[in-house]
Amino acid sequence: MSPADTTSVLDVVIVGAGIIGCMAARELVAAFPGAAVAVIDRDQVGSGASRRSAGLHFPRGSSARVRGMAALSERRYGELREEIPGLPIHDVPTTVVAAESNAGRLTEHYLPSAGLDRVRRVPAGPAGTVRLPAGSGAWSVRGGQYADVHGVAQLLAARLRPGVRFFEGARVVAIESCPDRVRLRLSTGEVLAARTAVLAPGPWIEDHAWRGWTAPLGLRVKKVVALHVEQRPRPDDGVIVFEDEDAFLLPLHHRGHWLFSYTCAQWDVSPEGTHSHLSTVEIAEGRAVLERFAPGLVRHCGTGRVFCDAYSAERAPVVRPVDEQGRVIFAGAANGSGYRLAPAIAAETVRAVGTVDAWTTARAAGAARTARTVEAVEKAEIAGSVDSAEAARTACAVEAVEAVEAVEAAQSVWIAGSVDSAEAARTARAVEAVEAVEAAGEARPAEPLRASRPTHPTTPAPDLPRSAQ
Ligand SMILES: Cc1cc2nc3c(=O)[nH]c(=O)nc-3n(C[C@H](O)[C@H](O)[C@H](O)COP(=O)(O)OP(=O)(O)OC[C@H]3O[C@@H](n4cnc5c(N)ncnc54)[C@H](O)[C@@H]3O)c2cc1C
Repeated sequence: MSPADTTSVLDVVIVGAGIIGCMAARELVAAFPGAAVAVIDRDQVGSGASRRSAGLHFPRGSSARVRGMAALSERRYGELREEIPGLPIHDVPTTVVAAESNAGRLTEHYLPSAGLDRVRRVPAGPAGTVRLPAGSGAWSVRGGQYADVHGVAQLLAARLRPGVRFFEGARVVAIESCPDRVRLRLSTGEVLAARTAVLAPGPWIEDHAWRGWTAPLGLRVKKVVALHVEQRPRPDDGVIVFEDEDAFLLPLHHRGHWLFSYTCAQWDVSPEGTHSHLSTVEIAEGRAVLERFAPGLVRHCGTGRVFCDAYSAERAPVVRPVDEQGRVIFAGAANGSGYRLAPAIAAETVRAVGTVDAWTTARAAGAARTARTVEAVEKAEIAGSVDSAEAARTACAVEAVEAVEAVEAAQSVWIAGSVDSAEAARTARAVEAVEAVEAAGEARPAEPLRASRPTHPTTPAPDLPRSAQ
């Protein structure tokens, strides 16, 4: 691509207008008023996994980080509902069914705000047919809601226009990351330039435009399936979550039927081609799980929705720079929870975008120092002073490793979701890290720094690139 292809440089381009891309656009504009933001989708807004989503939020997380994200998202959705009239998000009474032996785990995994409370029996499901299996208990929780995710994405986008430019029906076919910008070539022939690109591609993690960057993340794509139960819900029917099966029975009042979601174990599928319709395999699997709780409903389940989602090994979303320059940020791998965690993923994306320029500047300065030092050490070596060159190398290796450790410590606090302490840690550690890198740069950090270059930004600066201010 030549610079002549590009007319102006945007602050942020988001690839993918699913719920995560739209939410990230909204949070970026809120955090950096005046920023030039564009969203690109090969399809329409709210397509992909978001269009098929059951849209259930329930207040839980299997790790501290995901619980923190669930709490933040729940608050943020509450604010959005107040702000945007008609946002299709509905509160839903929620009952959790689990083996009595797993009661302790429920207390750990559900947010304190959920007010987990034992109930004597499961509320009547469709046609009163849901039963409590032997050895199981039931608990009510607060905070459950479900959404028409496609509709939420549409409304978010509608309110962002025209401040944010949406390119629909435009596939990103190539991305190039340069030291000062990212260039994106679209299927329409247009070329965009941006200071930062956010990849929010849902299950399209293997697109050739970015698979070199996403492959090291170790993500996989799994099929996600929900069967439709052709029974009309009554107005006060609620969702029943089968905790140990990772399944739920949800009344979709706006569509006039119930939905049964179960965990499908078909891995390494593709969002292209044949994975967007049900086969006899999924119907049989879903019915077998439902049979345990509501045998009377099995005959009402013969259709449904199926697609896929990206999963990480840690079963927690991934938000991090993926390119060498630190200008391309991946945001996704929502593990089948991309609706309920989207606001928290967007908040992490804002923080990552805010650090891009500071990080690349620090890296450029470090690289210049490194080059100067390598030259100095080489001169010492040529001059025959082998011992002092060795000593310099060893000292700088230790400092460089400490710098990287400091950065990683700050990152792990960040990942744990403790924003305030992460900020404090980053500030303290960044100073240390920068000092150590500087010290290392003065000696000879070429090898150790190159080998263990951290993948996250280290500096806390939450400012957007200058052009947005
Ligand atoms: C059947 C089903 C039920 C689910 N139920 C729930 C639930 O109850 N609760 C919950 O929280 N989550 C649920 N999920 C998961 C949730 O829907 C996803 O995690 C979420 O929608 C992911 O959002 P996203 O924005 O990352 O991806 P997507 O919605 O897939 O959006 C990605 C977008 O990127 C675009 N794109 C891809 N490649 C390119 C390219 N090269 N150029 C331009 N654009 C591109 C695609 O067109 C797409 O629109 C469910 C998923 C499924 C399939």
